[in-house]
Amino acid sequence: MSKPVGLLTLQGDYEKHRQTFAALGRETCGVRRPDELDRVSCLVIPGGESTTLSRLIDRIGLREPLRRFAADHPVMGTCAGLIMLAGALEGEEESDFGVKPLGLLDCTVLRNGYGRQIDSFTAPVAAGGLGAAEPPFAAVFIRAPRITAVGPGAEVVARHGEEPVAVRQGRLLGLTFHPELTDDLRIHRAFLDLAGSV
Ligand code: GLN
Repeated sequence: MSKPVGLLTLQGDYEKHRQTFAALGRETCGVRRPDELDRVSCLVIPGGESTTLSRLIDRIGLREPLRRFAADHPVMGTCAGLIMLAGALEGEEESDFGVKPLGLLDCTVLRNGYGRQIDSFTAPVAAGGLGAAEPPFAAVFIRAPRITAVGPGAEVVARHGEEPVAVRQGRLLGLTFHPELTDDLRIHRAFLDLAGSV
């Protein structure tokens, strides 16, 4: 694969993803404009704040280019990035100020689904579908969304207890947690493996 890994650098913690890919020996390239998607082989939509991400995506005119890119390239969304990839959001008002997901992953997501009392926590996640079954992945959840329904198009690839915390649909991957906040490279490596078939 010759092109670098793309990072949507509009907002959020993309820098940690850059460091993780660097640890895997992979170059990254920031994406802020539609034409920059031509330079990358795959894309990560990082965690951050989905209301801001959604608004910036529309202001910059990235919504359709991102949807087109995702039709034939791997895309990984983490936390707010998963919210953006989701097919539907639960309990969100349709409004100009709300989050409009890209509608790419066949799942429904509830923003801030773990409630305020446990805004952030780390928990072992069985991520066999991402090459991280044993030992479990120490997943960092920060005001994380909850996956409340998974449609037939998507497959659960990681669970916290019984609960799905990552889904995959072809070469699209959505995680409720932040794999870039640990030294464990297994999930980024699994994403690159997906991307390797491009
Ligand atoms: N709660 C944030 C949102 O709704 C997501 C938090 C995160 O990305 N860590 O966008």
